[in-house]
Amino acid sequence: MNDSTDLLKSVRDTTSETEFYTPTPDGYKPGKTKYIAVFGTVMSGLGKGIFSSSLAKLLKDKGLTVSPIKLEGYLNIDSGTLNPFRHGEVFVLDDGMETDMDLGTYERMLDQNLSRANFATSGQIYRTILDRERAGEYLGRDVQMIPHVTGEVKMRLRELAMQTNADVVSIEVGGTVGDIENAFYIEALRELSYEEGEENVMFATLTYVLEPPALGEQKSKAAQLGIKGLMEYGIHPHMIACRAENKVDEKVMQKISLFTNVPIQRVFSMHDLPSIYLLPEGMRKAGIDKEAIKHLGLESRVDHAADKKNTAQWATFAKKICNAKGELKIGVTGKYVALRDSYASIIKAIEHAGVANDVDVKLQWIETTDVNESNAAKALADVDGIIVPGGFGVRGTDGKIACIKYARENNLPFLGICLGFQMAVIEYARNVCKLPGADSTELDPDCKSPVISVLPEQKQIEGLGGNMRLGGQDVLISPDTLAAELFGGAELIRERFRHRYEVDPEFIKTLEDAGLVFSGRHSKHPIMQILELPRSVHPYFLAGQFHPELTSRPLRPQPMFVGLVAAGLEHQKLKG
Ligand code: GLN
Repeated sequence: MNDSTDLLKSVRDTTSETEFYTPTPDGYKPGKTKYIAVFGTVMSGLGKGIFSSSLAKLLKDKGLTVSPIKLEGYLNIDSGTLNPFRHGEVFVLDDGMETDMDLGTYERMLDQNLSRANFATSGQIYRTILDRERAGEYLGRDVQMIPHVTGEVKMRLRELAMQTNADVVSIEVGGTVGDIENAFYIEALRELSYEEGEENVMFATLTYVLEPPALGEQKSKAAQLGIKGLMEYGIHPHMIACRAENKVDEKVMQKISLFTNVPIQRVFSMHDLPSIYLLPEGMRKAGIDKEAIKHLGLESRVDHAADKKNTAQWATFAKKICNAKGELKIGVTGKYVALRDSYASIIKAIEHAGVANDVDVKLQWIETTDVNESNAAKALADVDGIIVPGGFGVRGTDGKIACIKYARENNLPFLGICLGFQMAVIEYARNVCKLPGADSTELDPDCKSPVISVLPEQKQIEGLGGNMRLGGQDVLISPDTLAAELFGGAELIRERFRHRYEVDPEFIKTLEDAGLVFSGRHSKHPIMQILELPRSVHPYFLAGQFHPELTSRPLRPQPMFVGLVAAGLEHQKLKG
């Protein structure tokens, strides 16, 4: 550990003149928690989150307590108002925090619920500092990027370490080295290594190995320059993951090793794989986990029995992904079909459910803007089930309603999610309850029968942002229903919500009298959370007001998706 640690630790006075200002939580013990920081070079979108979550998983498998954190460069306080077209899906945590989709990757890989402490944005950091400045807490001092902003970053990391009693805090820096907005995070991490001691902080970087088709061989120059960019910040990586389409040539890795002084056993080929869930095994086989343990001096904390058991369990799952018996096609209707990232969790939930049913599920994306009652049959001709996912606004909703009507009348398995749940209620009200003016006040504020309207408890709150029902809520399951069967007879389940509108309690009786079953409800308020048709009427017609895709985990697939895939297989068989 650095000799100056005690000095650094003691300087917490925000008005102090010293440049060694570094706030530290009370009782913090340097060395207890180790830190791994992952940076991206060359370009974004390479899968930093997948790499760092896979490494975190390998460490967790060894019995270590791992706490991931994503450091985002953007100024938004959370991801709630980001357009999924630009930034991928908004992932909602149990505590209601709206985050980047990478948090979903961490929850799935680690099979662990995360909280707002696992997600930081520049906006949050600056807000904390500016609020403090207005409160006069820096009186007499100019507030600076260094040490105040970097100090706040280190404080957050150490607070997370203490709160979660972590052996390892796994840090992912958003964006690419060289971006202006992420530079202070990189500087903070350099300082962290100085203060905590190099043996307590490991730096890893992703880089990209190009393979221009015209040359027909892999080139390492862009990767070298990218890593050089990181070194210019004073950070020397201890480990390098080389992203590439094909397995990276040994010679190319040697070049990268030599150029960066990173031993060849710590240079890893992270080439494309059929599933990201195959990456942890690949990393383990290459000895990446062992190198991390060695660098951080964690050998004595490893539980070898747990490691063996967890590794075997994961290997069984990974083998199943690659050896599915058949193929099944499920349609997904939605307006963000152009960007698969906007449905990342649905894609993953379906993958988990496919493994559970031993089948390879292919998703067919159906843009509903031009779908109507007369062409819905054609749009759905190839699929054995449909998912109508969540969304906002009116575009494409008539097409979704037409698809749901077709599914209901033709025994096509259907799973509705959030907006999809609301569309199913509207479809049922219009076509079965014979309320032609049935709609959602989100889509038509003046409709005759507002079967979906703003939540009573939200009606008072004005303005967009922060007025949705967000996060984990209990759902009371009615016995002897499809939902009860799927959830194994559980009376109470917990799912994640992100909505502003809901079934208007005034219409519940009308809908129920016409045969719609609300099999999941809020335990106290008349909030309808799951709807279904009895199995005697339809093989699989089910929807949730929540987002079931957010709680699906590889080894614990979400039952509503598992049920959909099972029903899809039955449908396929009958079609013959
Ligand atoms: N737009 C709907 C609402 O606000 C559904 C939201 C969603 O699908 N996430 O209630």
